[in-house]
Amino acid sequence: MKIHEYQARGILRKHGLPVPDFEVVSDPEAARVAAERFGGRVAVKAQVHVGGRGKAGGVKLASGPDEAADAARAILGMTIKGLPVRQVLVESAVDIADEFYVGIVVDRATKRPVVMVSDAGGVDIEEVARETPERIHKEGVDPLKGLSDGQAAALASRVESRPEIAARIAECIRGLYEAFSESDASLAEINPLVVTTSGDVRAIDAKILVDDNALFRHPEIAAMRDPSSETEQAKLAREIGLSYVKLDGSVGCIVNGAGLAMTTMDLIKMRGGEPANFLDIGGSSAPEKVVTALQIITSDPNVRSILVNIFGGITRCDDVARGLVMALESSPVDIPVVVRLTGTNEEEARSILAEHAFTTAESMDEAVGKAVALVGRRP
Ligand code: GDP
Ligand code: MN
Repeated sequence: MKIHEYQARGILRKHGLPVPDFEVVSDPEAARVAAERFGGRVAVKAQVHVGGRGKAGGVKLASGPDEAADAARAILGMTIKGLPVRQVLVESAVDIADEFYVGIVVDRATKRPVVMVSDAGGVDIEEVARETPERIHKEGVDPLKGLSDGQAAALASRVESRPEIAARIAECIRGLYEAFSESDASLAEINPLVVTTSGDVRAIDAKILVDDNALFRHPEIAAMRDPSSETEQAKLAREIGLSYVKLDGSVGCIVNGAGLAMTTMDLIKMRGGEPANFLDIGGSSAPEKVVTALQIITSDPNVRSILVNIFGGITRCDDVARGLVMALESSPVDIPVVVRLTGTNEEEARSILAEHAFTTAESMDEAVGKAVALVGRRP
């Protein structure tokens, strides 16, 4: 689950990180009052569930209350990567001498958390990883032992040579690891962690993703969910129990089981196509789920063909077929749909589909081939 920067800051603060004082407001007048209270220069920052707000114009520095109100008005009117900004964070601006990146993710290859630091902070870390990977320093962590003081100190010394400041950075790294571990995060990131011109260390951005499967033991984090920050599609998917991740390609996918969904996406890529989404309708196959899945996928203007790939175990192929027919009857789709159903009740499913305008396929390869070929062609 995504949470806002200000919520992540709250968690980091509990773990002792040097998070500057801030206020979250939802109108320009309140931003003015906050700026008056802080005095001097302030930073005004969009609170939306995306990165790269700075580049998109969602972070502005203001010299005083009037400018802060103007900045808040401008930012509150923005939509960043499809998400409307409803709140802004206001804080005293700092004079930055150095910007560092500190982040923790779960590394699939080594099956443990990996802590990363870089002196190329403040910018897109993916870009640093691509272009100057030697500027990212890493330490794998044994999850049972946690991050050692030695590891934290080693990481800090890679980016900062002054011992007192490096010690403070090491403390931040330890605090971030504690926050990551105790909130069952899949990612915890401070970008940038800054050293100010007067030598103070401050965490002026925060991002935490919490593992959905661990939310049951963090009710205070679960309560941070902001439904207004979810796209309509993500909300529909969550409410009916679909696992859905939007991507940028043109082949919409409806699949059951995460493994089969990943395989389907790989095959689409192998055939030269690009998946428009990951979507797992799960084990039970209520026709309503299929109706919602189609509704979500067809609302994406990039989608040019749809691939339904179902392996019927607990999922019954006839239920899926009924869902597809229900969906098309209630709102006709002018995008070609390729269906491959195999397993429980597949015969019945076939006879349901035969009466409608679906392209069918016997094997997964054939289905993927057809779906990719149909991109760019209207039925
Ligand atoms: P992001 O673009 O969504 O990651 O938003 P950030 O909170 O990281 O802000 C983007 C950039 O704005 C930072 O990397 C800083 O360079 C700059 N910035 C943010 N707050 C301040 C501040 O208080 N003072 C100064 N000088 N720059 C700031
Ligand atoms: Mn940032």
